[in-house]
Amino acid sequence: MRKIEHLNLLLKYLKRYKYKYFIGILCLIITDVFVLLKPQFLRRAINAIEARTNLTEIYFYSFMTFFVIFLAIASRYFWRVNIIGAAFHIESDLKRDLFKRLVKLSPKFYQSMTSGDLMARQTEDIQYIRMLSGFGLLASLDTLIISIPSIIIMATINWKLLLLSLIPLPFLSVVFKIFGSLIHKFFLEKQERLSILTEKSRETFAGIQVIKAFSQEENDSKDFSKKNYEHFRKSLKIIRVDGAFDPVIQFFVFISIVAIFWYGGTLIIKGQMDFGSFIAFQEYLHYLIWPVIAIGWVINMLQRGLASLKRLNTIFLTEPEIKNAENAIDIPASSGRIEFKEVWFKYVDDGEFVLKGINFEIQPGETVAFVGKIGSGKTSLINLINRFYDVNSGKILIDGIDIKEINLKDLRKNIGVVPQETFLFSDTIRENIAFGVDKYSDQDLIYSAEVSQVKDNIMEFPLQFDTPLGERGVSLSGGQKQRTAISRAIMIDPKILILDDALSSVDVDTEERILNNLREVIKNRTTLIIAHRISTIKTADRIIVLDEGKIIDLGTHDELISRCALYKRIFEQQQLKEDLDLGL
Ligand code: ADP
Repeated sequence: MRKIEHLNLLLKYLKRYKYKYFIGILCLIITDVFVLLKPQFLRRAINAIEARTNLTEIYFYSFMTFFVIFLAIASRYFWRVNIIGAAFHIESDLKRDLFKRLVKLSPKFYQSMTSGDLMARQTEDIQYIRMLSGFGLLASLDTLIISIPSIIIMATINWKLLLLSLIPLPFLSVVFKIFGSLIHKFFLEKQERLSILTEKSRETFAGIQVIKAFSQEENDSKDFSKKNYEHFRKSLKIIRVDGAFDPVIQFFVFISIVAIFWYGGTLIIKGQMDFGSFIAFQEYLHYLIWPVIAIGWVINMLQRGLASLKRLNTIFLTEPEIKNAENAIDIPASSGRIEFKEVWFKYVDDGEFVLKGINFEIQPGETVAFVGKIGSGKTSLINLINRFYDVNSGKILIDGIDIKEINLKDLRKNIGVVPQETFLFSDTIRENIAFGVDKYSDQDLIYSAEVSQVKDNIMEFPLQFDTPLGERGVSLSGGQKQRTAISRAIMIDPKILILDDALSSVDVDTEERILNNLREVIKNRTTLIIAHRISTIKTADRIIVLDEGKIIDLGTHDELISRCALYKRIFEQQQLKEDLDLGL
């Protein structure tokens, strides 16, 4: 994609606020008309002073000079409010739309970008786009509106003097080109460093306990300092170019001024130009200085803005990999029948297959456990059912329908997942358990907390279900967190319940109680369990044994013990571990 094409993204937003821009630009034109009138009155006032005859004329033109300045100042307020206001609207819309897009993107996308990088794009890059659509746009328009009439008026005063004053222009255009491309390049480099720096902070805050436990505060700070220094160095590079920009422009402008004094002075002495016109010419030349500086400024802003738009476009132009089919089928209430037909799956295109030709069928209401060594593909397999990832070949069917054909919302509403890693939001326990459930009663809430054996813990907190969790609330233990996550999955009343190592942090007794309670819950649901403890696995109707991405056996516990060597080995290892845990 060409650099300039990234502007299309901005155009979409500019159009949204076209009325604000229209009023703003109108006020800007009015301001500039007053500004352009000022030297005309000044010229007459000076000529009247020089003539030393008519005092009224002097008063009148002096007053008019003041009056147009006053009007220009007043209308300046309105263009500022409208144009800069529109830019803030755009900033807010961009933040909202970017967030909307981000939550739609698949896990694969999040593996390719760090959270810090995303945060930097969400904040700094959007800020640069705001500056471009506010001051950047304004300065470009102002430049056009002021400079073209100024040049015309200057030509009517004395065209030779005008030509002389425009000599530095070609040099300036070369300067702009060189500086512009340098700033674009350096700015992209700086933003990359900023992404790295933001990610560093995020990681440190998230992992502060590990850092402290391993006494890594010093090393971590050193690493931060290094990354901070690299970001600083890149910023400094921009400042060096940016800082040289204005002086170089001033230098060329100064050449113009000297030339005008030399030639204009001669014209006055020869009587070919009046003093008022000379002063007015000077004024208009000063009006050209701002546009010339503004062009440089706009180029700078445009380059930064384009670089930032490019960074945002990488997100906006990424299509969510997992999305609804054209005529997606609604299944408000699934029966819970799951089929895997010759499923092959890998995470990266040039990587190895993680699942290799998986076939099985699970009947509604059945409980199936998945057993296998670490890395055998258990989690990958269940993550395919609610389409966190899509299969590379083969099919997964629910109620006989390919899951790719099912409305994603419906599919996920029918599946309650308790993932391996529990995540709770910094919100109340109630909001965490009833996450994504619109209508529920307190009984539903209490029931789901009871099943997962977390109700008694919750009731001990002074605010009970309304207890806030997270940074400004209470911290739950690992086991309590897992049990809250189980409540959350039960709360959506799913037809398919998936427990991915969901009981690993609870003790054996609690696990036993949860399993007893779950028996009632899973009676009418299809349940898929990944677990290491044999006690959990044994409760299943059937067990699927996975090894290196393939199903090597499938049957009840007793059948597998008698015929599957791998299952027997896993069983014995677990038995030994459980005996050790119990101190037998
Ligand atoms: P299990 O749940 O049986 O421990 P997993 O399904 O987690 O096994 O992992 C199966 C294989 O897939 C492993 O080799 C693992 O390294 C790989 N894997 C798991 N998650 C990802 C991922 N997000 N990206 C790339 N490879 C992955």
